[in-house]
Formats: sequence, C-alpha cells, structure tokens
Amino acid sequence: MTAKIIDGKQVAARLRESVAARTALLPFKPGLAVVLVGEDPASTVYVRNKDRAANAAGIAASTLRLPMETTQAELLATIARLNADNDVDGILVQLPLPPQIDARAVIEAIDPAKDVDGFHPVNVGRLHDGRATLVPCTPLGVMKLLAEAGVSLRGTRALVLGRSSIVGKPAAALLTAADATVTIAHSRTRDLAAECRRAEVLVAAVGRAELVRGDWIATDAVVIDVGINRLPDGRLVGDVAFDEAATVAGAITPVPGGVGPMTIACLLENTVTAAVARRG
Ligand code: NAD
Repeated sequence: MTAKIIDGKQVAARLRESVAARTALLPFKPGLAVVLVGEDPASTVYVRNKDRAANAAGIAASTLRLPMETTQAELLATIARLNADNDVDGILVQLPLPPQIDARAVIEAIDPAKDVDGFHPVNVGRLHDGRATLVPCTPLGVMKLLAEAGVSLRGTRALVLGRSSIVGKPAAALLTAADATVTIAHSRTRDLAAECRRAEVLVAAVGRAELVRGDWIATDAVVIDVGINRLPDGRLVGDVAFDEAATVAGAITPVPGGVGPMTIACLLENTVTAAVARRG
C-alpha cells in the first residue's frame, strides 16, 4: 500500500471537540430536533448516534418518534411547531419517509434557517450561488477531509461520481466553489473508467460496492469514498475497491472510518452555525 489513509474518525473527533468548545462559550444551549417516522432499523441506529453525539457536544438533542402511519398533514404540523419553537435551532427529518408522505413537501416546510441538513431549496440555491450557510453534511465532510489531507483544489481536475441531491450535486458545487475543475459522472456516463482516470481528486458517491477499480485511478490521485455498501457476507465496503486503489492513489479514505464519521460531526457544526446565525 502506498496511499496515505485519510482518517475520518480522527478528523471527526477533532471537529466534535471544536463544536463542544464553541457551544461551551454560548449563553444558550443549541437545540436539535430529529424527527423519525416509523422504525426503519438503519434510521433508528443513525438517530440514536446523532442524539448521543449531539448531547456530548453540548447540544440539546431530542428525537420525536412518530408512528409509521403518520399522515403528511400530521408531519407538516409537527414541522410547523418546531419552526415556531425558539429553543429549536436545527430540524432534521430522517429519510427515507414512509410512502404516504411527500418528502419534498416536508423538506420545503422546514424553516431554511433551521434546515441543518441543507436540503431546503433556499439553501440549495444559496450553495449553487456561492453564498452557502447550511451545507449538506456529507459533502461538507468530504471538503473537510480534503482540507485535512492538505489537498490544494485550485485548478485541480475533480470528478464526482454520482449526482444525487444529498451528496453528488452539492459535492460538485463545493468543489467548484473551491476552484476545482469539476466533472460529474453518473449512471449514464460513457466510459466511466476513462473519466475516473483523468481525475486528480475523485469523490465516489454511487452506492455500488467496489465499482471503482484500482486501474481506474490516476497515480497519486486523492480518493474520497462516500459509498457505504453491505456485502452478502456482512462486510461494509465503499464504492472503491480499497486494496487495489490504495496501491495507486496518493491518499484515500477507508470505509468504514472515512466519510461516515464526518457526517454526524458536520451536522453538529451546522446546528451551532444555525443557532448562532438565528439567535445572534
Ligand atoms: P443515490 O442512489 O441517490 O445516487 C447514486 C448516484 O450514483 C446517482 O446519481 C446515479 O446516477 C449514480 N450511479 C448509480 N449507479 C451507477 C453506476 N453503475 N455508474 C455510475 N454512476 C452510477 O445515492 P446517494 O444518496 O448519493 O448515496 C451514494 C452512496 O453514498 C451510498 O452508498 C450511500 O449509502 C452513501 N452515503 C454515505 C453517507 C455517509 O455519511 N458516508 C451519506 C449519504 C450517502
């Protein structure tokens, strides 16, 4: 292995500590409300981890657990109540939502000033306009890992693999704002391998286990693997074939222990950012 391993656990731990240091100086406790509809096992684990990390960082986190059969009107009423609650600085609705609920309408109902996921169209617009305040947590984590790895993005050829609203598109916007020359590749891209080989920075957010092979990667490229995929044998792997890639890349994030831990840490940072912006 030649690549430097970018340790997301360590970077995330430092970020959580710095959030805790900031909250300790505030004259109030930032509040984070997490809304969980139903009992999706993965979501239940995520929400528990968010709660625990938030409280450890001096944020008053509470989880509202609503039944699976919650109607859209009931969920919108809950959001309206949280929007009006001055103790709540951040609102996060855990996705996916049950099929009777229109997730877009719910996200659009959140006060943009409390939208700590950065999914509201106002925050999406600001991000693409270069005036971002609340940025989606996972791509924000990607940028922090690149900064920690000492990657200079100006003029760099970056490839984002995946064009979702949650990861791919905002990651591309952030890389563009950081002066990289950005290509977005996706399921309809012709010759993905050739596109990848041109990249000096490669961000993979596809959700296909080990799609990106070692010979798709340019020598010394920086590889950020957002993918989390469970193999039939239970192992968690990314979108990049780690062992192959690590012999070619200059630096790479592992899965687990790369981007994953950054997401919650960035959520905490966004909560404090939202609290300070709203309460002054
Ligand atoms: P998504 O399914 O919404 O989007 C996947 C994207 O990949 C799409 O734009 C699609 O065009 C593209 N794609 C799919 N198959 C492809 C292929 N064969 N070749 C090229 N492109 C292809 O997924 P998402 O929400 O963006 O998540 C992507 C991955 O990141 C998943 O594994 C998810 O679990 C993971 N994820 C991790 C975190 C984290 O905290 N680390 C957060 C969010 C998502």
